[in-house]
Amino acid sequence: METPSRRNILKYAVTAIVAGVVAGVGAGLGGYNAGRVEAENLKEKLSTAQSKVKELEDQLKDLKAKMPPAVKVEEVSVDPAKTALIIVDMQNDFCKVGGKLGPKEKAGEEAITAIALKIKALKDAGKPKGMKVVYTQDYHYPNDPEFKIWGPHCVVERVGGVDKPTWGQLEIPELTPDPDDPIIHKGGKTVSYDCFYASYKPNEMEDTLKSLGVDTCIVTGTVSNICVYCAVVGCAQRGYRTIVPLDGIISLPFWPWTPAWSLFQWTTLYRVTITETGKIRFR
Ligand SMILES: [Zn+2]
Repeated sequence: METPSRRNILKYAVTAIVAGVVAGVGAGLGGYNAGRVEAENLKEKLSTAQSKVKELEDQLKDLKAKMPPAVKVEEVSVDPAKTALIIVDMQNDFCKVGGKLGPKEKAGEEAITAIALKIKALKDAGKPKGMKVVYTQDYHYPNDPEFKIWGPHCVVERVGGVDKPTWGQLEIPELTPDPDDPIIHKGGKTVSYDCFYASYKPNEMEDTLKSLGVDTCIVTGTVSNICVYCAVVGCAQRGYRTIVPLDGIISLPFWPWTPAWSLFQWTTLYRVTITETGKIRFR
């Protein structure tokens, strides 16, 4: 016969086992519920991602439909003595992180520097053979009318009758002009994009090209749908054989369809030749 204490032990044991089973089932049920919620969440995330993909695919289709046709990249041969390399606005404010209208990220600056080095290589290849090099630069005094659109950039202070350029106004170190390279300063207009129109000295760009005795212009620099665009059109309109190396121009990354539309306009409307810096031969 069992003693009361043994019966009690047995009762406790049974209670403990029952409690354990109940707890186990409860935990199992809880786990099952959590799993179901997780699955629902994942399903919802998947569906959101799928509709986002669909949206992007539609956008891409739309973009492709609006893209101009690809242009032909040609091999070119130029007479260096009759050629001017035009380097448009490769200034710190446009090309360096910390520049007023420059890239926000180091990667953007590196991409621009890579293009600057292509321009530099072209200059180094052509100039010893007699090619001329002409720089254009934004050159804005405080309160320039163009600041209404872009804010202050490429600022030059006038101190005691002498112009003091800010760091942003200076040419990037990779492309420092030689003392004999003419520099056309632009500014003071509602917009000073066009080096033929916005020079401080009237007709300075035309007169410079004329004095250099060139009939061919290779246009490089920044950016393809603004100041480079105007320089290319300006050269072509004035009868110069105009050449643009694709790897020598910078485009705004956030501006859709550049440089594609610029290239399309240049080639179809102005008979501009599109090439790459490595495809230009000096004869
Ligand atoms: Zn400007």
